Amino acid sequence: MSAGVIPRDRALPDVTVDVPFSDLGSMTADVAEELEAVWKRLTATSSFVGGSAVERFEHQWSQYCGTAQAVGVANGTDAIELILRGLGIGPGDEVIVPANTFIATAEGVLMAGATPRFVDVDPESLLITPETIDPAVNERTAAIIPVHLYGNTPHMDDLGRLARAKRLALIEDAAQAHGSTWGGKKAGSFGIAASFSFYPGKNLGAFGDAGAVVTNDSGLADRVRSMSNHGRSPASGHVHSLVGRNSRLDALQAAVLSAKLPMLGFWNGARRAIMRTYTRLLGSAAVQMVQQGTGSAYHLNVVRVPDRDRVREALRRMGIETGIHYPIPCHLQMPYREFASDPLPAAETAAKQILSLPLFPHMTHAHIERVCDSLNEILQPERTHVG
Ligand SMILES: *Cc1c(COP(=O)(O)O)cnc(C)c1O
Repeated sequence: MSAGVIPRDRALPDVTVDVPFSDLGSMTADVAEELEAVWKRLTATSSFVGGSAVERFEHQWSQYCGTAQAVGVANGTDAIELILRGLGIGPGDEVIVPANTFIATAEGVLMAGATPRFVDVDPESLLITPETIDPAVNERTAAIIPVHLYGNTPHMDDLGRLARAKRLALIEDAAQAHGSTWGGKKAGSFGIAASFSFYPGKNLGAFGDAGAVVTNDSGLADRVRSMSNHGRSPASGHVHSLVGRNSRLDALQAAVLSAKLPMLGFWNGARRAIMRTYTRLLGSAAVQMVQQGTGSAYHLNVVRVPDRDRVREALRRMGIETGIHYPIPCHLQMPYREFASDPLPAAETAAKQILSLPLFPHMTHAHIERVCDSLNEILQPERTHVG
Protein backbone atom coordinates (compact mmCIF):
# COMPACT_ATOMS: atom_id res chain seq x y z
CA MET A 1 0.00 0.00 0.00
CA SER A 2 1.37 3.38 -0.95
CA ALA A 3 1.39 6.06 1.74
CA GLY A 4 0.47 8.52 -1.02
CA VAL A 5 -3.21 7.53 -0.88
CA ILE A 6 -3.54 8.96 2.63
CA PRO A 7 -4.58 12.60 2.23
CA ARG A 8 -1.83 14.50 3.98
CA ASP A 9 -3.80 17.68 4.40
CA ARG A 10 -6.11 16.18 6.98
CA ALA A 11 -4.84 16.94 10.48
CA LEU A 12 -4.22 13.84 12.57
CA PRO A 13 -5.96 14.43 15.93
CA ASP A 14 -9.25 16.10 15.01
CA VAL A 15 -10.68 14.27 12.06
CA THR A 16 -14.46 14.64 11.87
CA VAL A 17 -16.28 11.34 11.89
CA ASP A 18 -18.42 10.92 8.77
CA VAL A 19 -19.27 7.27 9.26
CA PRO A 20 -19.53 6.28 12.92
CA PHE A 21 -18.86 2.72 14.02
CA SER A 22 -22.31 2.46 15.54
CA ASP A 23 -25.42 4.57 16.22
CA LEU A 24 -27.34 3.60 19.33
CA GLY A 25 -29.32 6.87 19.34
CA SER A 26 -31.34 6.02 16.24
CA MET A 27 -32.41 2.70 17.76
CA THR A 28 -33.50 4.53 20.91
CA ALA A 29 -35.45 7.00 18.73
CA ASP A 30 -37.26 4.08 17.04
CA VAL A 31 -38.89 3.20 20.39
CA ALA A 32 -39.10 6.71 21.92
CA GLU A 33 -42.81 6.47 22.75
CA GLU A 34 -42.50 3.09 24.39
CA LEU A 35 -39.58 4.39 26.43
CA GLU A 36 -41.63 7.35 27.68
CA ALA A 37 -44.21 4.89 28.92
CA VAL A 38 -41.47 2.83 30.59
CA TRP A 39 -40.21 5.86 32.46
CA LYS A 40 -43.72 6.90 33.56
CA ARG A 41 -44.54 3.42 34.81
CA LEU A 42 -41.25 3.13 36.67
CA THR A 43 -41.54 6.48 38.41
CA ALA A 44 -45.16 5.76 39.27
CA THR A 45 -44.50 2.36 40.81
CA SER A 46 -40.99 2.87 42.27
CA SER A 47 -40.44 -0.83 41.66
CA PHE A 48 -36.77 -0.66 40.73
CA VAL A 49 -35.30 -4.13 41.24
CA GLY A 50 -37.05 -7.35 40.26
CA GLY A 51 -40.84 -7.34 40.10
CA SER A 52 -43.21 -7.59 37.18
CA ALA A 53 -41.02 -5.75 34.63
CA VAL A 54 -38.25 -8.32 35.12
CA GLU A 55 -40.68 -11.25 35.05
CA ARG A 56 -42.24 -9.91 31.87
CA PHE A 57 -38.92 -9.56 30.06
CA GLU A 58 -37.73 -12.98 31.25
CA HIS A 59 -40.87 -14.52 29.80
CA GLN A 60 -40.49 -12.64 26.50
CA TRP A 61 -36.80 -13.53 26.19
CA SER A 62 -37.35 -17.25 26.82
CA GLN A 63 -40.16 -17.22 24.22
CA TYR A 64 -37.89 -15.43 21.75
CA CYS A 65 -35.03 -17.90 22.25
CA GLY A 66 -37.28 -20.97 22.29
CA THR A 67 -36.20 -22.07 25.77
CA ALA A 68 -38.32 -22.97 28.77
CA GLN A 69 -36.68 -20.45 31.09
CA ALA A 70 -34.83 -17.16 31.13
CA VAL A 71 -33.30 -15.63 34.24
CA GLY A 72 -32.32 -11.96 34.14
CA VAL A 73 -28.92 -11.23 35.68
CA ALA A 74 -26.68 -8.19 36.00
CA ASN A 75 -24.47 -8.78 32.92
CA GLY A 76 -23.23 -11.38 30.46
CA THR A 77 -20.08 -12.25 32.41
CA ASP A 78 -22.06 -13.09 35.55
CA ALA A 79 -24.37 -15.19 33.37
CA ILE A 80 -21.43 -17.44 32.39
CA GLU A 81 -20.20 -17.72 35.98
CA LEU A 82 -23.68 -18.46 37.34
CA ILE A 83 -24.36 -21.19 34.76
CA LEU A 84 -21.10 -22.93 35.69
CA ARG A 85 -21.76 -22.62 39.44
CA GLY A 86 -25.32 -23.81 38.90
CA LEU A 87 -23.97 -26.91 37.16
CA GLY A 88 -21.49 -27.54 39.97
CA ILE A 89 -18.50 -26.79 37.74
CA GLY A 90 -15.68 -25.14 39.70
CA PRO A 91 -12.25 -25.77 41.24
CA GLY A 92 -10.41 -28.67 39.57
CA ASP A 93 -12.58 -28.52 36.45
CA GLU A 94 -11.42 -27.31 33.05
CA VAL A 95 -13.66 -25.46 30.60
CA ILE A 96 -12.77 -25.19 26.92
CA VAL A 97 -13.13 -21.71 25.40
CA PRO A 98 -11.98 -20.22 22.09
CA ALA A 99 -8.88 -18.01 22.23
CA ASN A 100 -10.42 -15.32 20.01
CA THR A 101 -13.30 -14.13 22.14
CA PHE A 102 -14.01 -11.19 24.40
CA ILE A 103 -12.07 -11.75 27.61
CA ALA A 104 -15.33 -12.16 29.59
CA THR A 105 -15.84 -15.73 28.33
CA ALA A 106 -12.68 -16.84 30.15
CA GLU A 107 -13.23 -14.42 33.03
CA GLY A 108 -16.61 -16.01 33.82
CA VAL A 109 -14.92 -19.43 33.96
CA LEU A 110 -12.28 -18.16 36.41
CA MET A 111 -14.90 -16.37 38.53
CA ALA A 112 -16.65 -19.74 38.94
CA GLY A 113 -13.34 -21.15 40.26
CA ALA A 114 -12.78 -23.36 37.21
CA THR A 115 -9.84 -23.25 34.79
CA PRO A 116 -10.28 -22.02 31.21
CA ARG A 117 -8.48 -24.01 28.51
CA PHE A 118 -8.01 -21.97 25.34
CA VAL A 119 -8.30 -23.67 21.97
CA ASP A 120 -7.72 -22.55 18.42
CA VAL A 121 -10.38 -21.93 15.77
CA ASP A 122 -11.02 -22.71 12.13
CA PRO A 123 -8.82 -20.29 10.15
CA GLU A 124 -11.71 -19.28 7.83
CA SER A 125 -14.79 -19.06 10.06
CA LEU A 126 -12.80 -18.15 13.20
CA LEU A 127 -15.14 -20.47 15.14
CA ILE A 128 -14.28 -23.54 17.20
CA THR A 129 -14.73 -26.99 15.66
CA PRO A 130 -14.48 -30.56 17.03
CA GLU A 131 -10.99 -30.71 15.49
CA THR A 132 -9.73 -27.70 17.43
CA ILE A 133 -11.43 -28.78 20.67
CA ASP A 134 -10.45 -32.45 20.66
CA PRO A 135 -6.73 -32.13 21.61
CA ALA A 136 -7.64 -30.07 24.70
CA VAL A 137 -10.08 -32.58 26.19
CA ASN A 138 -8.74 -34.48 29.20
CA GLU A 139 -10.10 -36.14 32.36
CA ARG A 140 -10.59 -32.74 34.08
CA THR A 141 -12.61 -31.21 31.21
CA ALA A 142 -16.17 -30.47 32.36
CA ALA A 143 -17.60 -28.14 29.71
CA ILE A 144 -17.20 -26.46 26.33
CA ILE A 145 -18.26 -22.86 25.79
CA PRO A 146 -18.64 -22.13 22.05
CA VAL A 147 -18.95 -18.41 21.28
CA HIS A 148 -21.28 -17.22 18.49
CA LEU A 149 -18.58 -14.78 17.43
CA TYR A 150 -19.74 -11.70 15.46
CA GLY A 151 -23.21 -13.31 15.42
CA ASN A 152 -21.99 -16.44 13.60
CA THR A 153 -22.94 -19.81 15.00
CA PRO A 154 -20.48 -22.70 15.05
CA HIS A 155 -21.62 -26.13 13.74
CA MET A 156 -23.92 -26.92 16.65
CA ASP A 157 -24.68 -30.52 15.58
CA ASP A 158 -20.98 -31.37 15.53
CA LEU A 159 -20.37 -29.68 18.86
CA GLY A 160 -23.43 -31.36 20.40
CA ARG A 161 -22.22 -34.76 19.21
CA LEU A 162 -18.74 -34.16 20.64
CA ALA A 163 -20.14 -32.93 23.97
CA ARG A 164 -22.37 -36.02 24.27
CA ALA A 165 -19.58 -38.41 23.33
CA LYS A 166 -17.19 -36.90 25.89
CA ARG A 167 -19.90 -36.22 28.50
CA LEU A 168 -19.23 -32.50 28.60
CA ALA A 169 -21.68 -29.70 29.32
CA LEU A 170 -22.30 -27.52 26.25
CA ILE A 171 -22.80 -23.89 27.28
CA GLU A 172 -23.31 -21.19 24.63
CA ASP A 173 -21.83 -17.72 25.01
CA ALA A 174 -24.50 -15.99 22.93
CA ALA A 175 -23.55 -12.41 23.89
CA GLN A 176 -23.13 -11.50 20.20
CA ALA A 177 -25.98 -13.61 18.84
CA HIS A 178 -29.40 -12.15 19.74
CA GLY A 179 -31.59 -13.70 17.06
CA SER A 180 -28.90 -15.80 15.35
CA THR A 181 -30.22 -19.13 14.12
CA TRP A 182 -28.62 -22.40 13.16
CA GLY A 183 -30.67 -25.03 11.34
CA GLY A 184 -33.78 -22.95 12.13
CA LYS A 185 -33.15 -22.94 15.90
CA LYS A 186 -32.20 -19.85 17.86
CA ALA A 187 -28.76 -19.35 19.38
CA GLY A 188 -29.10 -20.05 23.06
CA SER A 189 -31.32 -23.11 22.63
CA PHE A 190 -28.66 -25.71 21.80
CA GLY A 191 -26.70 -26.38 24.98
CA ILE A 192 -27.63 -27.10 28.57
CA ALA A 193 -27.73 -23.30 29.00
CA ALA A 194 -26.64 -20.08 27.31
CA SER A 195 -25.50 -16.67 28.46
CA PHE A 196 -26.62 -13.38 26.92
CA SER A 197 -25.32 -9.87 27.47
CA PHE A 198 -27.48 -6.80 26.87
CA TYR A 199 -24.58 -4.37 27.07
CA PRO A 200 -25.67 -1.25 25.11
CA GLY A 201 -23.62 -2.10 22.01
CA LYS A 202 -25.03 -5.62 21.54
CA ASN A 203 -27.79 -6.28 18.98
CA LEU A 204 -30.31 -5.94 21.82
CA GLY A 205 -28.88 -3.46 24.28
CA ALA A 206 -30.07 -2.02 27.59
CA PHE A 207 -29.41 1.46 29.01
CA GLY A 208 -26.58 0.06 31.08
CA ASP A 209 -25.39 -3.42 32.01
CA ALA A 210 -27.77 -6.37 31.82
CA GLY A 211 -27.64 -10.07 31.03
CA ALA A 212 -29.63 -13.30 31.03
CA VAL A 213 -29.28 -17.05 31.36
CA VAL A 214 -31.56 -19.18 29.19
CA THR A 215 -32.08 -22.91 29.70
CA ASN A 216 -34.59 -25.75 29.45
CA ASP A 217 -33.38 -27.13 32.79
CA SER A 218 -35.72 -25.78 35.46
CA GLY A 219 -33.47 -26.95 38.31
CA LEU A 220 -30.57 -24.99 36.85
CA ALA A 221 -32.79 -21.94 36.30
CA ASP A 222 -33.90 -22.10 39.96
CA ARG A 223 -30.29 -22.31 41.19
CA VAL A 224 -29.16 -19.41 38.96
CA ARG A 225 -32.13 -17.32 40.13
CA SER A 226 -31.38 -18.03 43.76
CA MET A 227 -27.62 -17.50 43.46
CA SER A 228 -28.11 -14.19 41.66
CA ASN A 229 -30.36 -12.99 44.52
CA HIS A 230 -28.30 -13.67 47.68
CA GLY A 231 -29.09 -17.37 47.74
CA ARG A 232 -32.73 -16.67 48.61
CA SER A 233 -35.07 -19.62 48.58
CA PRO A 234 -38.06 -19.20 46.25
CA ALA A 235 -40.43 -19.79 49.16
CA SER A 236 -39.17 -17.03 51.45
CA GLY A 237 -36.98 -13.96 51.02
CA HIS A 238 -35.61 -14.51 54.55
CA VAL A 239 -34.38 -18.04 53.97
CA HIS A 240 -30.96 -18.23 52.32
CA SER A 241 -30.57 -21.83 51.26
CA LEU A 242 -27.23 -21.37 49.53
CA VAL A 243 -24.41 -18.83 49.45
CA GLY A 244 -25.26 -16.51 46.60
CA ARG A 245 -24.41 -13.00 45.56
CA ASN A 246 -26.14 -10.00 44.02
CA SER A 247 -26.36 -10.21 40.25
CA ARG A 248 -29.94 -9.08 39.71
CA LEU A 249 -31.42 -7.47 36.62
CA ASP A 250 -33.02 -4.17 37.53
CA ALA A 251 -36.53 -3.19 36.45
CA LEU A 252 -35.47 -0.20 34.32
CA GLN A 253 -33.18 -2.35 32.17
CA ALA A 254 -35.79 -5.09 31.89
CA ALA A 255 -38.47 -2.59 30.78
CA VAL A 256 -36.11 -0.96 28.26
CA LEU A 257 -35.33 -4.40 26.84
CA SER A 258 -39.05 -5.25 26.58
CA ALA A 259 -39.61 -1.97 24.74
CA LYS A 260 -36.80 -2.69 22.26
CA LEU A 261 -37.37 -6.42 21.73
CA PRO A 262 -40.21 -6.04 19.17
CA MET A 263 -37.73 -4.15 16.95
CA LEU A 264 -34.94 -6.75 17.14
CA GLY A 265 -36.08 -8.69 14.07
CA PHE A 266 -36.35 -5.50 12.03
CA TRP A 267 -32.93 -4.26 13.17
CA ASN A 268 -31.30 -7.64 12.46
CA GLY A 269 -32.96 -7.62 9.01
CA ALA A 270 -31.48 -4.18 8.35
CA ARG A 271 -28.06 -5.47 9.38
CA ARG A 272 -28.45 -8.38 6.94
CA ALA A 273 -29.38 -6.05 4.07
CA ILE A 274 -26.40 -3.80 4.87
CA MET A 275 -24.09 -6.81 4.81
CA ARG A 276 -25.45 -7.78 1.39
CA THR A 277 -24.56 -4.32 0.09
CA TYR A 278 -21.11 -4.53 1.68
CA THR A 279 -20.52 -7.87 -0.04
CA ARG A 280 -21.46 -6.30 -3.38
CA LEU A 281 -19.37 -3.15 -2.99
CA LEU A 282 -16.20 -4.44 -1.36
CA GLY A 283 -14.45 -5.04 -4.66
CA SER A 284 -10.83 -5.03 -3.59
CA ALA A 285 -9.34 -8.48 -3.74
CA ALA A 286 -7.24 -7.57 -0.73
CA VAL A 287 -10.34 -7.42 1.49
CA GLN A 288 -11.45 -10.79 2.73
CA MET A 289 -14.81 -10.76 4.56
CA VAL A 290 -15.24 -13.16 7.46
CA GLN A 291 -18.12 -15.22 6.07
CA GLN A 292 -21.46 -14.92 7.85
CA GLY A 293 -23.83 -17.87 7.70
CA THR A 294 -27.41 -17.17 6.61
CA GLY A 295 -28.57 -17.41 10.23
CA SER A 296 -26.16 -14.78 11.51
CA ALA A 297 -27.41 -11.89 13.65
CA TYR A 298 -24.70 -9.82 11.91
CA HIS A 299 -23.42 -8.31 15.14
CA LEU A 300 -20.12 -7.21 13.58
CA ASN A 301 -18.84 -6.84 10.03
CA VAL A 302 -15.31 -8.18 10.28
CA VAL A 303 -12.93 -8.17 7.32
CA ARG A 304 -9.33 -9.27 7.06
CA VAL A 305 -6.83 -6.97 5.42
CA PRO A 306 -3.07 -6.93 5.03
CA ASP A 307 -1.26 -4.29 7.08
CA ARG A 308 -4.34 -3.80 9.25
CA ASP A 309 -3.13 -1.02 11.54
CA ARG A 310 -2.16 1.13 8.57
CA VAL A 311 -5.49 0.52 6.81
CA ARG A 312 -7.33 1.40 10.02
CA GLU A 313 -5.39 4.64 10.38
CA ALA A 314 -6.07 5.55 6.73
CA LEU A 315 -9.80 4.97 7.27
CA ARG A 316 -9.71 7.09 10.43
CA ARG A 317 -8.22 9.97 8.48
CA MET A 318 -10.98 9.58 5.93
CA GLY A 319 -13.54 9.99 8.72
CA ILE A 320 -14.47 6.32 9.12
CA GLU A 321 -14.59 4.73 12.55
CA THR A 322 -13.61 1.09 12.89
CA GLY A 323 -12.98 -1.40 15.69
CA ILE A 324 -10.92 -4.53 16.29
CA HIS A 325 -12.57 -7.56 17.90
CA TYR A 326 -10.06 -8.47 19.31
CA PRO A 327 -6.47 -7.34 18.73
CA ILE A 328 -4.94 -9.55 21.45
CA PRO A 329 -6.16 -13.16 21.73
CA CYS A 330 -7.12 -14.11 25.30
CA HIS A 331 -4.27 -16.56 25.77
CA LEU A 332 -1.73 -13.77 25.10
CA GLN A 333 -3.21 -11.48 27.78
CA MET A 334 -0.86 -11.47 30.76
CA PRO A 335 -3.10 -13.02 33.47
CA TYR A 336 -4.36 -15.69 31.05
CA ARG A 337 -1.10 -16.98 29.58
CA GLU A 338 -0.98 -20.08 31.72
CA PHE A 339 -4.26 -21.35 30.24
CA ALA A 340 -2.93 -22.31 26.80
CA SER A 341 -0.30 -24.97 26.45
CA ASP A 342 0.48 -24.42 22.75
CA PRO A 343 0.58 -21.55 20.28
CA LEU A 344 -2.81 -21.11 18.66
CA PRO A 345 -1.83 -20.06 15.13
CA ALA A 346 -5.26 -19.43 13.52
CA ALA A 347 -6.37 -17.13 16.35
CA GLU A 348 -2.98 -15.39 16.48
CA THR A 349 -2.82 -14.79 12.71
CA ALA A 350 -6.40 -13.51 12.56
CA ALA A 351 -5.82 -11.07 15.44
CA LYS A 352 -3.26 -9.22 13.29
CA GLN A 353 -5.56 -8.96 10.25
CA ILE A 354 -9.11 -8.44 11.48
CA LEU A 355 -10.86 -5.09 11.22
CA SER A 356 -14.47 -4.40 12.19
CA LEU A 357 -16.19 -2.01 9.77
CA PRO A 358 -19.20 0.17 10.70
CA LEU A 359 -22.41 -1.87 10.94
CA PHE A 360 -25.62 -0.61 12.53
CA PRO A 361 -29.29 -0.84 11.52
CA HIS A 362 -29.63 2.82 10.49
CA MET A 363 -26.58 2.85 8.24
CA THR A 364 -27.44 4.52 4.92
CA HIS A 365 -26.44 3.44 1.44
CA ALA A 366 -24.18 6.52 1.29
CA HIS A 367 -22.46 5.39 4.50
CA ILE A 368 -21.77 1.93 3.08
CA GLU A 369 -20.50 3.39 -0.20
CA ARG A 370 -18.18 5.73 1.68
CA VAL A 371 -16.67 2.85 3.65
CA CYS A 372 -16.31 0.56 0.63
CA ASP A 373 -14.95 3.23 -1.73
CA SER A 374 -12.43 4.32 0.90
CA LEU A 375 -11.31 0.79 1.65
CA ASN A 376 -11.07 -0.17 -2.04
CA GLU A 377 -9.06 2.97 -2.67
CA ILE A 378 -6.67 2.37 0.23
CA LEU A 379 -6.03 -1.18 -0.89
CA GLN A 380 -5.74 -0.46 -4.64
CA PRO A 381 -3.34 2.48 -4.78
CA GLU A 382 -2.51 1.99 -8.46
CA ARG A 383 -6.08 2.91 -9.46
CA THR A 384 -6.07 6.12 -7.47
CA HIS A 385 -2.99 7.34 -9.33
CA VAL A 386 -4.71 7.17 -12.73
CA GLY A 387 -5.45 10.66 -14.01
C1 LIG B 1 -20.15 -8.69 25.60
C2 LIG B 1 -19.63 -10.07 25.75
C3 LIG B 1 -19.58 -10.73 27.00
C4 LIG B 1 -19.78 -10.06 28.32
O1 LIG B 1 -20.90 -9.38 28.56
P1 LIG B 1 -20.99 -8.24 29.67
O2 LIG B 1 -22.45 -7.99 29.74
O3 LIG B 1 -20.21 -7.07 29.20
O4 LIG B 1 -20.45 -8.79 30.95
C5 LIG B 1 -19.22 -12.07 27.02
N1 LIG B 1 -18.87 -12.71 25.90
C6 LIG B 1 -18.86 -12.12 24.70
C7 LIG B 1 -18.49 -12.91 23.50
C8 LIG B 1 -19.23 -10.76 24.58
O5 LIG B 1 -19.21 -10.18 23.38
